[in-house]
Amino acid sequence: MNLTSWKSEKINKSDRPALIDAKIVISGGRSLGSKENFDKVLSPLVDEVGAALGATRAAVDAGYAPNEIQVGQTGVVVAPELYMAVGVSGANQHVYGMKDSRVVVAINNDPDATIFQFADYGLVADLFDAIPEINKLIKE
Ligand SMILES: Cc1cc2nc3c(=O)[nH]c(=O)nc-3n(C[C@H](O)[C@H](O)[C@H](O)COP(=O)(O)OP(=O)(O)OC[C@H]3O[C@@H](n4cnc5c(N)ncnc54)[C@H](O)[C@@H]3O)c2cc1C
Repeated sequence: MNLTSWKSEKINKSDRPALIDAKIVISGGRSLGSKENFDKVLSPLVDEVGAALGATRAAVDAGYAPNEIQVGQTGVVVAPELYMAVGVSGANQHVYGMKDSRVVVAINNDPDATIFQFADYGLVADLFDAIPEINKLIKE
């Protein structure tokens, strides 16, 4: 007896560059707190600079982001010109997926966050203030 049947297929189309070969990747972590925040806070900046959106596994597991944009050991390995880690702790499984990025920028409200050890530029700030502010400055 065949228990499965084909219903339909849906291809997610996006104007954003593919994660694997994007020049800029902006990844968000669990700290975004919800899928709504993940999209609302990160998407304007991602689209302003023509980046690809990435996520940590914690963000994916929480349902904030789809599986295919998980960066890391059990996700996609990226090496963009610029990698921005937003509210990402810097667990080694995540770092595995972005450590070869040319320039790494980390934004975290914990000055002792591990991600700062891998960052060329670090900003200790609340991401909910910093990301809209950065986007505003870029637009200006
Ligand atoms: C076998 C295995 C494979 C794994 N593979 C992967 C993988 O491929 N990719 C991956 O990412 N993880 C992977 N993980 C999970 C990994 O170990 C971490 O749990 C995960 O990366 C943590 O995600 P996070 O940084 O979003 O969350 P957290 O560790 O919860 O960190 C959240 C960070 O956000 C900061 N923060 C909180 N609020 C704010 C705010 N308002 N503003 C600014 N900063 C804030 C906190 O200070 C903290 O540093 C794997 C784990 C295992 C065991």
